[in-house]
Parts: sequence; C-alpha cells; structure tokens
Amino acid sequence: SLHPNHCRRVVVLGAPRVGKTAILRRFLADGFEQHYVPTTEDFYSKLYHIRGEAYQIDLLDASKERDFPAKRRLSILTGDIFLLVFSVDDRESFNEVHSLRDEIVVAKSKLTKPKENREFPIIICGNKADLGSERTVSRSEICKCLGRDSTLFEVSAKDTTNLEGLFEALVELGGLPTETC
Ligand code: GDP
Repeated sequence: SLHPNHCRRVVVLGAPRVGKTAILRRFLADGFEQHYVPTTEDFYSKLYHIRGEAYQIDLLDASKERDFPAKRRLSILTGDIFLLVFSVDDRESFNEVHSLRDEIVVAKSKLTKPKENREFPIIICGNKADLGSERTVSRSEICKCLGRDSTLFEVSAKDTTNLEGLFEALVELGGLPTETC
C-alpha cells in the first residue's frame, strides 16, 4: 500500500500545440516496469518508481477546459502541483503561463486558510528546447518571471532532453505541506 505522502495530483495547463500531449506520453510510457491506467481522455494515473519508492502520480490535462473557466477553476482546486507548459518558439504561449499562474494563485488563496501556509508548487516547463534557431523566448527572460513558488524546466519531448528531471520534480516538489519556521 502507498504512503499517503506518496500521492501526487498534477494539473497540466498551457496553450494549444505546445507539446503537452507529447510530454504526457513520454511520462506515461517510459520504463518497462511502470504502469499507467488511462481513465478518461484527459486523466491519467501512473505508479512511478524512484529510488526504490513507489509514488502514485495522477495527471489531469485541464488545458482543454480553456473555454470553460468555471470548469478549469474546479480542476485547479483539485491539484497539489501544477505543470504549466509553453513552447520556446511561441511567445503567446509564454504569455499565457503568466495568466495561468495568476489564476492558480487566486483560486488557491480562496481555498486555503491563511494559517495553513500550504504551498502549491508550480513547474514552468518550456518545451521544444530542441528548436535552436526558431526559439523566440530567451532563457533569461523566463528566469526573470519566475516566482518563489515556481521552478523552471526546459525540455524537449522530441529528443527527451531534461524530461527525467522534470518527472522527478513532480515527485520531489509535491510533498507534504511545508511547515512555517
Ligand atoms: P498539445 O496541444 O500541447 O498537447 O501539443 P502536442 O503534444 O499535440 O504537440 C503539438 C505539436 O508539437 C506536434 O506536432 C508535436 O509533434 C510537436 N512537438 C511536441 N513536442 C515537441 C518538441 O519537444 N519539439 C518539437 N520540435 N516539436 C514538438
């Protein structure tokens, strides 16, 4: 049986065509001993093994709810870690990351009691890092917009650059609520 701290609920958001599906496919398919259960079209659950420990990672691709703000808000409320994907060759998709992050912060601040001090880690994922010359969003401007709650990964679902680090971060960052000092 799984330790309760070994479950993660990841909500994936981002503009169309940035490679969310490609990243999710890589996550769900890697490793021969790892299994996943396709439930609905946009929801996946996978047992992920890292350093001899098993973690259940539930992933919801909430991006198809972009035209349904109320539904997306509900999805956001269920997440304890967020994966915001953009493409390094698509400035508009990078701009969308900002508004998505604001949306998460607003939704979650209404949910948590001030005393709880619960953090909801946000992973900002710049995909298509393999596109050298077509790149339009520079690394330095991405770093400039990172918040205290967010971590950046530049990845390529095509050539698998940095994907392992990204997937491990889903496990590492999504632990129990952080305590106050
Ligand atoms: P989604 O709409 O965000 O789910 O995007 P998809 O996963 O369907 O990908 C959109 C397009 O981008 C497809 O043509 C993919 O083959 C392509 N794509 C996805 N990831 C990468 C990547 O890392 N590098 C490159 N060059 N193309 C990618």
